[in-house]
Amino acid sequence: MPVPPACRALLATALSRAGRHRLPCHHGNRRHAGPSGPGRPEPVSSLLAPLAARLRSSAGGEVEAAGGGEAGGVLRHLLLKLRATGPVTVAEYMREALTNPGQGYYTRRGGVGEDFITSPEISQIFGELIGIWYISEWMAMGKQNAFQLVELGPGTGTLTGDILRVFNQLASLLSKCDVSVHLVEVSPKLSAIQAEMLTGGKVQSNPENKSAYMKGISKTGIPIYWYRDIQDVPQGYSFYLAHEFLDALPIHKFQRTEKGWHEVLVDIDPEVPDQLRFVLSPSRTPATENFIQPEETRDHVEVCPEAGVLIQRLACRIEKDGGAALIADYGHDGTKTDTFRGFRNHKHHDVLKAPGTADLTADVDFSYLRKMAEGRTATLGPIKQREFLKNMGIDLRLQVLLQNSRDSATREQLLHSFDMLMNPKKMGDCFHFFALLPHHRVVRPTEKHNPQSKSPLPPVAGFGELSLK
Ligand code: SAH
Repeated sequence: MPVPPACRALLATALSRAGRHRLPCHHGNRRHAGPSGPGRPEPVSSLLAPLAARLRSSAGGEVEAAGGGEAGGVLRHLLLKLRATGPVTVAEYMREALTNPGQGYYTRRGGVGEDFITSPEISQIFGELIGIWYISEWMAMGKQNAFQLVELGPGTGTLTGDILRVFNQLASLLSKCDVSVHLVEVSPKLSAIQAEMLTGGKVQSNPENKSAYMKGISKTGIPIYWYRDIQDVPQGYSFYLAHEFLDALPIHKFQRTEKGWHEVLVDIDPEVPDQLRFVLSPSRTPATENFIQPEETRDHVEVCPEAGVLIQRLACRIEKDGGAALIADYGHDGTKTDTFRGFRNHKHHDVLKAPGTADLTADVDFSYLRKMAEGRTATLGPIKQREFLKNMGIDLRLQVLLQNSRDSATREQLLHSFDMLMNPKKMGDCFHFFALLPHHRVVRPTEKHNPQSKSPLPPVAGFGELSLK
């Protein structure tokens, strides 16, 4: 699809300026596992066997399993819990490993750049084009006099920073619009990094009775607030952003057996002290009853109820107050099976080993998200990252940056980061964009009855096809 005219004009204004060129990171591996990663379908019988084998082969004694030192905190806590009350769901295991308040991976370590690398960290163009997407939707929906930009899981704050730079370059357009930024972040370590990146550290903590735990002013003069949960973010006309956020939310895993569906649980391995293993629930669990559809054809299924609840909340807010949500992540449309995996130091990591020291992640099921938004908002996508970015004008922006860079090393870096984002074998094909928009943004209320009555609605930038499912 060509770059829509409104978007082309925005691009010309915001991005033809030389702007700042941020040097891309140079990490060999990314969080994404690629075609040979564990996202491939597994035969039923082999599903649990390799996991068990991997665990046995990695059994390096208690200290090794615990990851040593402080990092053993999550494992020690889990072992006590498992001994006292028996196996836990994969969702509970993942929640403890990632966001346990004292010892969780995101709480203590953060990970972005250290263990995995994400698109906004690779190239400034990524965030700039997303900034353009929001402005283009704000214009298409009538240029309201205020909006909130709400980002879920902002990592280092780089993406918000790149978006705010575009807002600043389009200041004349936004001069009568009251913009505020609202970041949902559980990690104290990452919120401190975000504060430094976006405000230069000029933030103040809010008293406990306030919904935002911290506030500050961006380097470009925009108020920024931090929250622990989307429900704390004030209602109002908002543009939401979740980049590589939903894949970090806890999943339940289910396995089909001859005796029906069973939930996969995490337990202590009786043969190896202080080592964890996967087991199947002896009978159906509440999650099995609720999350497996009768028409399911796969033999192994992962469901992320927290992602479902979040999408329902966003859809309710957009239906009531207006705005849009842009969700970008790796994922599938209800087709993949075992995608649960771990990353540490840019390498694959056994998901049951040393919980709290590695990033744990699972592919996002976009078909499930679509179902959760149904009736409240229209959905667009998922569309591949390379198609979305191309539709948004990434080629034009690359040309401008190349023309403005004097040395060959910078030009090489620009081309390298472009290739990382767009190459189908790298991030181009496995990352997808998905949007929630008010129904009236994609179909005029009267259009069904009299299709010739009005001029067509402006296309939604970035998405080739409109889907109202
Ligand atoms: N969006 C960023 C970072 C992705 S990593 C990027 O693309 O670079 C996931 C982010 O979500 C981290 O900031 C992590 O601390 C945050 N996070 C994970 N689980 C969360 C939860 N339950 N609530 C709020 N933030 C969470």
